[in-house]
Amino acid sequence: MTNTSYPASYYAASANPVPARPALQDDVETDVCVIGAGYTGLSSALFLLENGFKVTVLEAAKVGFGASGRNGGQIVNSYSRDIDVIERSVGPQQAQLLGNMAFEGGRIIRERVAKYQIQCDLKDGGVFAALTTKQMGHLESQKRLWERFGHTQLELLDQRRIREVVACDEYVGGMLDMSGGHIHPLNLALGEAAAVESLGGVIYEQSPAVRIERGASPVVHTPQGKVRAKFIIVAGNAYLGNLVPELAAKSMPCGTQVIATEPLGDELARSLLPQDYCVEDCNYLLDYYRLTGDKRLIFGGGVVYGARDPANIEAIIRPKMLKAFPQLKDVKIDYAWTGNFLLTLSRLPQVGRLGDNIYYSQGCSGHGVTYTHLAGKVLAEALRGQAERFDAFADLPHYPFPGGQLLRTPFAAMGAWYYGLRDRLGF
Ligand SMILES: Cc1cc2nc3c(=O)[nH]c(=O)nc-3n(C[C@H](O)[C@H](O)[C@H](O)COP(=O)(O)OP(=O)(O)OC[C@H]3O[C@@H](n4cnc5c(N)ncnc54)[C@H](O)[C@@H]3O)c2cc1C
Repeated sequence: MTNTSYPASYYAASANPVPARPALQDDVETDVCVIGAGYTGLSSALFLLENGFKVTVLEAAKVGFGASGRNGGQIVNSYSRDIDVIERSVGPQQAQLLGNMAFEGGRIIRERVAKYQIQCDLKDGGVFAALTTKQMGHLESQKRLWERFGHTQLELLDQRRIREVVACDEYVGGMLDMSGGHIHPLNLALGEAAAVESLGGVIYEQSPAVRIERGASPVVHTPQGKVRAKFIIVAGNAYLGNLVPELAAKSMPCGTQVIATEPLGDELARSLLPQDYCVEDCNYLLDYYRLTGDKRLIFGGGVVYGARDPANIEAIIRPKMLKAFPQLKDVKIDYAWTGNFLLTLSRLPQVGRLGDNIYYSQGCSGHGVTYTHLAGKVLAEALRGQAERFDAFADLPHYPFPGGQLLRTPFAAMGAWYYGLRDRLGF
């Protein structure tokens, strides 16, 4: 990782004040060494600290440097692949466990925000917007499916109703999830980091894990220090590189881009999204947007397979924004940035153990704000010896991307091109 400063995002520009955090320059001992201070790492650290573990977090850059400090801020429930697909692949018992957990991450976020008084502009309400009748049919069956697992805060929106919640003429209908919502993602991560420290956890920034010495008492090495631990949690996600080679073959970093407009003012902002819900459409290559606390529109979309940084983000995303909201044609874009998420072939999270004491969770394939919070809880449960829920994730099958390291990016891009074409043609 060469650049360890936050990107020039709206989030970095509006981040709450944070303490300076030193780099590790010592040899330390701890119960659990967490690698990565995104939501997965911070959520794990918090649950472990709340359960009496001593925790040390190593962050290569800064808290929330990765996807957790750059994302669309949408609290989207469930997983990047739906539970019926999971059920077909793993059977009803495991699907039941995963289905029961599908909405837990959003509850965890709300509990964290309330318990640790995190200032992150939390708002309730997320909309899935259908561009075609086929997508609307899918939402109808998704509602029935989610209700089967007890998730009932869902309302189908017909064309008239969706126009009341979003001033975009493209949608034929949608579904409102009042247990969805949105947050300032970096401030959520920073608040969680402060909570970790309030419970005695230690976070070292600018401290990349460069080597893991495996064994009964594993040691994580950084350039200037090391951490000996009983357990390690690997939570570096798309920014992990090749630290754990076993994980790299079955996942692929992808970039996605976000822009933030200038503040729109109350009237224009309210005319776009009167109830201040966040919205994502139902395309495979989806667009997502919401208002910020100071009434900017944050708009994201597009995927760059292999995670190369595009030269002109505004040129990619602004046309998408204007397609949804032509009324914003004179509005200035103040910020544009990119971030990496980790894709797996099944689009389901990659979770497991290496030996007895190295645990990992990564690869939630674009929908990770809620899952990563759940992952922290499930990992902490496993370290406490209650692995039933952890195993439900760990038993999900994962496969290498076709084409190996060299060809997986063009292969995945071809697949996405095909699905993008289907989106555009309305299939
Ligand atoms: C632009 C963008 C928009 C998104 N929008 C949404 C959205 O609206 N809703 C949604 O649900 N999901 C969204 N996602 C996905 C979501 O943000 C991620 O799934 C989630 O934040 C992943 O959290 P994480 O902690 O696993 O990884 P990250 O947040 O990426 O954190 C990993 C951390 O590990 C550190 N690290 C890596 N390697 C090492 C090492 N060797 N040593 C020490 N530290 C290391 C990194 O510096 C980084 O800080 C989006 C993702 C992106 C990129």
